[in-house]
Amino acid sequence: MLAAITPDKSAVEKFEVEFARTFEAKYALAFPYGRSALWSLFKAMDIHGAEIIMPAYTCVVVAHAIVLSGNTPRFVDIMLHDYNMDLNQVAEAITRKTRAIIATHLFGYPLDIDRLAEIVQEAEDRFGHKIWVIQDCAHSFGAKWKGRQVCRAGNAALFGLNISKMITSIFGGMITTNDKVLYEKLKDYRNAHFKKPRFSKTIYRLLYIMAIYLAFNESIYPLIYWLQEKTLILNRWIKAYHLDDRIHFPPDHLDRMLPIEASVGLAQLKKYPEILNKRKEAAVFYDKNLHSREGWIKPLLLDGATYSHYVVRVPKRKKAMQEMAKKGIQLGRVIEYSIPNMAAYKSLDGGAHAINSLRCSIETINLPTWGGEFVAKKVNKLLITTKAC
Ligand SMILES: *Cc1c(COP(=O)(O)O)cnc(C)c1O
Repeated sequence: MLAAITPDKSAVEKFEVEFARTFEAKYALAFPYGRSALWSLFKAMDIHGAEIIMPAYTCVVVAHAIVLSGNTPRFVDIMLHDYNMDLNQVAEAITRKTRAIIATHLFGYPLDIDRLAEIVQEAEDRFGHKIWVIQDCAHSFGAKWKGRQVCRAGNAALFGLNISKMITSIFGGMITTNDKVLYEKLKDYRNAHFKKPRFSKTIYRLLYIMAIYLAFNESIYPLIYWLQEKTLILNRWIKAYHLDDRIHFPPDHLDRMLPIEASVGLAQLKKYPEILNKRKEAAVFYDKNLHSREGWIKPLLLDGATYSHYVVRVPKRKKAMQEMAKKGIQLGRVIEYSIPNMAAYKSLDGGAHAINSLRCSIETINLPTWGGEFVAKKVNKLLITTKAC
């Protein structure tokens, strides 16, 4: 992490090369945010005026990227057991206007990439044009379906790298692909449209990184929780941009990734196996040790899942959180909205069909997955997590 303080200029390229190697892709390209990466990918794929299929329950910035690139999201409901899109509904949602599908592997649970490939092939044959498949791996770095990395399926994969993700470069996003032509187009697009950030941004990021560095390394996560809940410092970055009912991107969405961010990302990549193992241990730990309470539904333990989050559904969330808070246990919410029911998206799609998504937006709580040992110690004392998705 200390390397972050003295980043070298080629750090971004190094980060891309290492990222591609770690996740078994031929190419990787770095962006300032996951959403900017996705938006650029639509440009590189030359998708506009089209419908793009995505889950109703996911991070809202995905829908923003679709709208801001001149396309229309088509929401598909999720299934309750693994929080991923119902693929039968995906098959039904495909029309002649569909040009892409965002295959999200939510909370680290792998979606059935084989069944999706069959559905897409059938639709391509029927409509006679390409339908791009983009894996949203923001929650599922290294998730596997039947032993295969989900990020290698389809045409490209998106990774989010903000502080709530499995690996962080503080902010940032990455696209991986094995398609050389697509890679070249995306790279040209990025290099033509993304500019070098102002110098002061490096200073701000540096301060931010130092706070996070302390939090991650000294187990003083409560400080971050305090910063997030009681001050406006993190709000500006974490909360504000999601839930303000406007379809927009942050002002710096067309900045290049900073070398300093890439250096943090590189340091994090080295820890990836350890991070993944800790998350798996935490999930197994909870599964074994969390006392069952009436109506509480624990998430699945599943081969190949990466457990970016450990999400429990509870019938009366507010009451449950208040009760736990009285006992000194602070539970977190994760994605507290169903996109088709949000003000900005209601006019597109009333959300009436996304029953499970709506239900999850009301019932889910997130337990921290900061690693087995930390969690084991704190589980009955203090449970906290970030609200970003
Ligand atoms: C975080 C996230 C992204 C990308 O988010 P950015 O904040 O733009 O980096 C995309 N999809 C999902 C499911 C996410 O959680």
